[in-house]
Amino acid sequence: MSKQITVIGTGPGGYVAAIRAAQLGADVTVIERGDVGGTCLNRGCIPSKVMKATADILEKFGRAREYGIALEETPRADMKAIMARKQSVIGHQAKGIHQLLRKHKIRYLEGQATIEKPNLVIVKSEEGNDLDVPYDGLILAPGSRPLDIPSFPFDGKSILSSDDALSLEKIPESMVIVGGGVIGCEFSFIFSSLGANVTLIEAMSRILPLPTVDEACSRVLEREMKKRRINFIVSRSVNTVEYEGKSLRVTLGPSPFLKTPEEKEKPPLILETDKVLVCVGRRPNTEGIGLEKIGLELDNKGWIIADTGMRTNVSDVYAIGDVLGPEKGMLAHTASAEGHIAAENALGKHETLDYEVVPSTIFTTPEVACVGLTTSQALTKGHEARSDSVLFRNIGKAQVMGDIAGQAKIVSDTQSGKILGVHMIGAHATDLIAEATLALQRGCTVAQLADTIHAHPTLSEVMQEAAFKALDRPLHG
Ligand code: FAD
Repeated sequence: MSKQITVIGTGPGGYVAAIRAAQLGADVTVIERGDVGGTCLNRGCIPSKVMKATADILEKFGRAREYGIALEETPRADMKAIMARKQSVIGHQAKGIHQLLRKHKIRYLEGQATIEKPNLVIVKSEEGNDLDVPYDGLILAPGSRPLDIPSFPFDGKSILSSDDALSLEKIPESMVIVGGGVIGCEFSFIFSSLGANVTLIEAMSRILPLPTVDEACSRVLEREMKKRRINFIVSRSVNTVEYEGKSLRVTLGPSPFLKTPEEKEKPPLILETDKVLVCVGRRPNTEGIGLEKIGLELDNKGWIIADTGMRTNVSDVYAIGDVLGPEKGMLAHTASAEGHIAAENALGKHETLDYEVVPSTIFTTPEVACVGLTTSQALTKGHEARSDSVLFRNIGKAQVMGDIAGQAKIVSDTQSGKILGVHMIGAHATDLIAEATLALQRGCTVAQLADTIHAHPTLSEVMQEAAFKALDRPLHG
């Protein structure tokens, strides 16, 4: 008889795990209490990129003259139409996931899944009916939700979460975004291009203060924010948000991460704004699943602990995706890759995920993408490393497109020439990183990358040029 695999959650982790398990011959059930596709499809990747698509077009319209186009009127964003398009894209994709589940004969159950005891999940439907779902293998993919700040919690109207920001009916005149990480930076560019006056606050000393993001990318992005009049304030934290009639009064104090006494005594700064968008992190969806009934281990912040084979401390129970916490990346493609591995291991294989070759993508303008080690990480790990950068402005296609900001950097081992990391900021960097990811995963050297013929004129030439530079034979500079 086929093994029974039950998956909780249908985000990019859960539905991919379900399909892989079905491909391997299992009898699969997926359980979803919300909308199929999870955060990614309904409140994350897809809706935010639909808004970015409009923002990008508007930004290009703003530069129409540069491209030889005379416009009669100033184009403006129509939020109702953007939201309608968003819903239509989500609807299309959701239908696609349902079709895939049907094609693979996966049973789809709507409702809240709770583990009753080892090897038994109960699904509670909205009507209150209980259904028993026995399992041989359980894959937990319940995801995460926005984290609020207790002193100014989300109210859905003025103090917004990322979920709220993706459903606004009107573009606000002004918006303070709290948190200069990936989501805060993406929204800064989107809302600024749509016409809002944006101020971004980050407590660390640079925007995108992530260990995986090369400092040079943060600096270029800060410059691009200035060009677009996105006001960003670093090394400050938001202390209070008070309602003042229809607007909000935001008080900024010194950042808790500042070191010197002078910095700590910075006087408060007051901002007036229509909306505050809080993007300071996520929290795990682990309540109400009955994890305690099987003794499943969480870390001190409540994220599920799993090894690189997605195994938890409980045999036959696997966990994938956002619920593993920020150290594992919290990205849709990571969740899907983990889903593949969990399904395979639940069905007797012994696969592991190499987190070092998972690319990070940030959909700002220009885009940021990286994979592997930064120069300082490479040096700390004992590599004799070098880094070689090429500016996008030196690439013909970037000039043709009129998108010349940014650079691509290859970090390589001086002795072996092996590529250790690639860090890019520039147009379509999130697409260009695929080549670098393959090169890193396959252990390629800069010589192999340089020997690979890159089509002309394409942005991908930036990678080949950086590889030539790493061999001390730059072609164009
Ligand atoms: P989720 O997608 O959160 O899905 C979990 C599902 O489980 C949910 O549908 C939930 O309803 C269901 N569930 C939970 N508990 C239960 C239960 N007990 N019973 C039944 N169902 C349950 N990542 C990228 O890679 N690229 C991007 O461009 C990107 N943009 C983003 C933009 C925003 C604004 C946000 C917020 C996130 C973005 N992400 C992006 C991150 C990405 O959305 C997540 O990493 C991804 O959705 C995680 O997938 P998951 O399967 O772990 O969980």
